[in-house]
Amino acid sequence: MKSIKNIYVIGNGPSSSHTMGPAFACDYILKNYKNIKDLQVFLFESLALTGKGHLTDRVINEKFEGINHEIIFDFKTKQEHPNTLIFKFNSEGQNHEIKVESIGGGSILIDGKDNCSFDECYKEGTLNEILSYCESKNLSLFDYIKEKESDDIYNFLEEVYKAMKEAINRGLSKEGVLPGKLKTKRKAKEIYDNYLKTKDNTFYVMASAFAVSEENADGQIIVTAPTCGSSGVIPAAINYLELKEVPHQKIIEGLGVAALIGNLIKNNASIAGAMCGCQAEIGAACSMASALITYAFGYCNKKIAQAAEIALEHSLGLTCDPIEGYVQIPCIERNAIFALKAINSYKLACAIGLESSKISFDNIVKTMYETGIDLRKEYKETSQKGMSKINDFYKS
Ligand code: SF4
Repeated sequence: MKSIKNIYVIGNGPSSSHTMGPAFACDYILKNYKNIKDLQVFLFESLALTGKGHLTDRVINEKFEGINHEIIFDFKTKQEHPNTLIFKFNSEGQNHEIKVESIGGGSILIDGKDNCSFDECYKEGTLNEILSYCESKNLSLFDYIKEKESDDIYNFLEEVYKAMKEAINRGLSKEGVLPGKLKTKRKAKEIYDNYLKTKDNTFYVMASAFAVSEENADGQIIVTAPTCGSSGVIPAAINYLELKEVPHQKIIEGLGVAALIGNLIKNNASIAGAMCGCQAEIGAACSMASALITYAFGYCNKKIAQAAEIALEHSLGLTCDPIEGYVQIPCIERNAIFALKAINSYKLACAIGLESSKISFDNIVKTMYETGIDLRKEYKETSQKGMSKINDFYKS
């Protein structure tokens, strides 16, 4: 497995697979080919169906500003991966055709090859293998990460923490309406005001998740955790831990443990809504946040695995059906609800014995993947069914 750094990418929302991935693909073309002419960018399947709401066309237009280009939304041609782009162009007299797959969390494959610059750090490929390794060497999960990653891992996690906190603070201070035709009202501040009035921590957690998710929907800087659409869950968990006066270092280390969980899900299943539905995005974020909380409160490796398993188990089957393709409804509210679910998963794991746990984290990851593959494509970021078909929502 690659470095956990690939899970937390700091960049502009609203979508890691539909905005960041295509942006990185454009950067690749611009870096590797000179004097580009007659450029056509074809968007297929999920990218074609929800690309407008996810601002895919906007980011491509920005990247190729000054180059004559055309974006073609191909709604018919099937591809192996639902988030496929094809670039056709002429560079220095030669015609080129480059196929890019945006596989989630901002990662891309160029003509089937991994374009990611992250180091291969981990020999162990499942949580079971990692737990056995840690047991044999008496390591905590964060000790394990430290042993495998480069020395700058603390600094990296501090940067991630800072970007997450900045997104929360910006989001909590803003009011008004988010971009796009849904005219979705920002609500983070309203929920935060409720917290101030009632001192009910639940409102603080939800306000934090709303703040980041609204920043994401507005195309502002957030951190994929593990994706843009699910970027509000972990920051909300951080604010919960800070409310509970958990030491900063424990939170930073817990962020590392959460990324390890996300990395396992990404490697052994998927973190892309277009591949496996929202269970792969919000479900993964919930599992990661539950691991973060359990680690930060000082529990053992097996308890962390149990909490992460519970969170993912009860996210199974969650569909991705954003209205009009905007990462707003149901996405923003969902971040808040699943931040609370992450806290409850941690609490449940701590309330029951390890011996009563019959399902391993690795098994639930496999089940999530199989469920995701079996989900009809209409429920996988295509906005063709489910919530996305409620079309009277903005009339009232
Ligand atoms: S419904 Fe879930 S997976 Fe789909 S765009 Fe929203 S957050 Fe992402």
